[in-house]
Amino acid sequence: MEISGKTVIVTGAARGIGRAIAAAFAQEGANVVAADLGSLSADPQSEWHYSLAPESELARTAREISQGGGACSAIEVDVSKRASCRNLVDKAVEAYGRLDILVNNAGIIKLGRIADIVESTWDRIFAVNAKGVFLMSQAAIPHLRKNGGVIINMASNAGKRGSKFNSAYCASKSAVIGLTQSLAAELAADAVRVNAICPGNVFTPMQYDYLVRRRLQQYPGQSFEDAFDAFVKDTVPLGRKQAPREIAEAALYLCRADNVSGISLSVDGGGGIGLS
Ligand code: NAD
Repeated sequence: MEISGKTVIVTGAARGIGRAIAAAFAQEGANVVAADLGSLSADPQSEWHYSLAPESELARTAREISQGGGACSAIEVDVSKRASCRNLVDKAVEAYGRLDILVNNAGIIKLGRIADIVESTWDRIFAVNAKGVFLMSQAAIPHLRKNGGVIINMASNAGKRGSKFNSAYCASKSAVIGLTQSLAAELAADAVRVNAICPGNVFTPMQYDYLVRRRLQQYPGQSFEDAFDAFVKDTVPLGRKQAPREIAEAALYLCRADNVSGISLSVDGGGGIGLS
């Protein structure tokens, strides 16, 4: 698919990986709708260890991308809510007349021992990470079908391999990989391609949860970022974290790769194969 002139929705776009994806698509000449919780974030934020992106962050992202010469507008969404997803898709189509690409990037994490995870945490992680992909895809598919569109789902290498203290997140990302394959199979007849990206270690606010709860203890006395870098060096074959831009490049590739559907592309420095 040629990206220039297409309309793309990126969820979780206020910051981190989603922001880099929104900026990369805008740079390629797409009309970008950057979507995030914004002022809707007040409620779910309360039980999270790290802050989700506020309205100002979403507005700033859209403004900065636009100032850089790209076409980018900001629309609030809570991907766990059907009506909110439909509203986002309707507004995007109203603004640009079409929808070609959906990047389901919004996600949350909360670590904890399986014995201690409360039901509301499990439910919220699944509501955002897995059900959010379902709801956004369901809202977008009628439009994507018209143009032979593309869906890209942000899974994780945690969806390919479980790890301790991370069961809800890992299970939700495995669900994203399964959903990606099912959607790809079902939508192939409409020439809609569906793929997932599995990042390994990207230094974003989401990583604070890991850092505070696990990694800082392993690397005492180090700053967040230094502890993160040391952890990655010790555990990942290529020894370095992924930049948000590297994940965005994978998203651009998956849009252009007209003969690729149903894959879960690891961008993790070889993290999936481990050191041995
Ligand atoms: P991040 O916390 O910086 O960004 C996530 C964004 O999603 C935030 O802006 C947040 O406000 C938004 N969001 C949360 N709940 C939402 C909801 N209900 N509706 C709409 N938006 C919502 O984290 P990130 O690292 O940029 O994560 C982006 C994606 O990449 C996530 O799906 C994450 O699971 C995945 N991922 C990240 C890493 C990593 O190392 N950072 C690794 C693998 C996968």
